[in-house]
Amino acid sequence: MNLHEYQGKQLLNSYGVATQRGIVAQTVEEAIQAYHKMQEDTKTDFCVIKAQIHAGGRGKGGGVKLAKNLTEVKEIAGNILGMMLRTPQTPGGMEGPGKLVRKILVTEDSYAPDFDACKEYYVSVLMDREQKRNVIIYSTEGGMDIEKVAEETPHLVHKEWIDPHIGLQDFQKRKIAFNLGLSGNAYKDFIKFIGNLYSAFVGSDATLFEINPCLKTGDDRIVAVDCKVTLDENGLFRHPDLAAMRDTDEEDPTEVEAKSFGLNYVNLDGNVGCMVNGAGLAMATMDIIKLSGGSPANFLDVGGTADAARVEQAFRIILKDPNVKAILINIFGGIVRCDRVAQGVVDAYRNMGNIGVPIIVRLQGTNADLAKKLIDESGLEVHSAILLQEAADLVKKAL
Ligand code: GDP
Ligand code: MN
Repeated sequence: MNLHEYQGKQLLNSYGVATQRGIVAQTVEEAIQAYHKMQEDTKTDFCVIKAQIHAGGRGKGGGVKLAKNLTEVKEIAGNILGMMLRTPQTPGGMEGPGKLVRKILVTEDSYAPDFDACKEYYVSVLMDREQKRNVIIYSTEGGMDIEKVAEETPHLVHKEWIDPHIGLQDFQKRKIAFNLGLSGNAYKDFIKFIGNLYSAFVGSDATLFEINPCLKTGDDRIVAVDCKVTLDENGLFRHPDLAAMRDTDEEDPTEVEAKSFGLNYVNLDGNVGCMVNGAGLAMATMDIIKLSGGSPANFLDVGGTADAARVEQAFRIILKDPNVKAILINIFGGIVRCDRVAQGVVDAYRNMGNIGVPIIVRLQGTNADLAKKLIDESGLEVHSAILLQEAADLVKKAL
């Protein structure tokens, strides 16, 4: 689950990580109030207005703007709120439809008063599955596209792996600060910053923290100007306060709907809809679809209780995708009986009327023969198979 920048900053602050201060606003009126409050706090007239969407690269798309006075605050807040913001990371990129901006963050100008004395760094914490450790990735080349830095100047991207049993060690903090070329107060501040950042990462069961830019201010302080936070959904039950930050407006609506029915659904861009029980079987099914020349339109695990109602919900979810040309149902009847599932498929099909795409059902396990008979005798455009390869061949024919 991703957090908005303003939520990520709240999380960081609660662990003592210094961030660019800001107040979130949903209307121009709220933005003006936020601006006055920032003015009192910072004793300057400059502020930055930042679109809050779940995508980076907002600066490039015109979603991060400096306002020098109240008139500009009104104008910029009015322009950004309600805009469809396109960034390299929104669906379809700069050519796509963009994402609706519902909230903005009115922040202090962290680069004032001495813009030229500021320096931007890159710092992220994530899990390195191969090394089975968390890793801190950092670079002196902050503020820009880190992928590009890694590609063109890989020697400028450093990694520090952390032993999960002993955590981030003081010598590692010093090493990172040193490699970033920090000294004096900024060095000391960074040691605190990185320690607290790592504690926040572990403490919130996060899978990614990306601070870009991490700023050294003109007066030698270290501040998180931006943050991207991704939390591990499997750890969310331990953090009701963070779970409450979920913003379903930012998520794929079909995936949100599927979740509400207890279906494990991920939208993909192929043409064969899949309905499977069990994540492992779902992966194997996607492989066989690929091998037979198709490409999966989704990952969908209906779980152990594939009754008619659930099968129908799953059908509806799959059919929302206009690219679907065929549906492959692959159920292993271990706990659930195959004839039950077959009856569920037939009932759901009848209830929904014209589904419009061929359905291939492969049921294996308890009462598989009975299930095949049920489907073959239903008179519907549903093809049955018992072997996975048979099913794949039927999919190929259907495309
Ligand atoms: P992103 O484009 O979505 O990654 O959004 P960021 O929060 O990283 O902002 C984009 C860029 O705007 C940063 O790289 C900075 O160069 C600039 N920026 C962000 N905050 C400030 C600020 O307080 N003052 C100034 N002058 N520039 C800022
Ligand atoms: Mn950024």
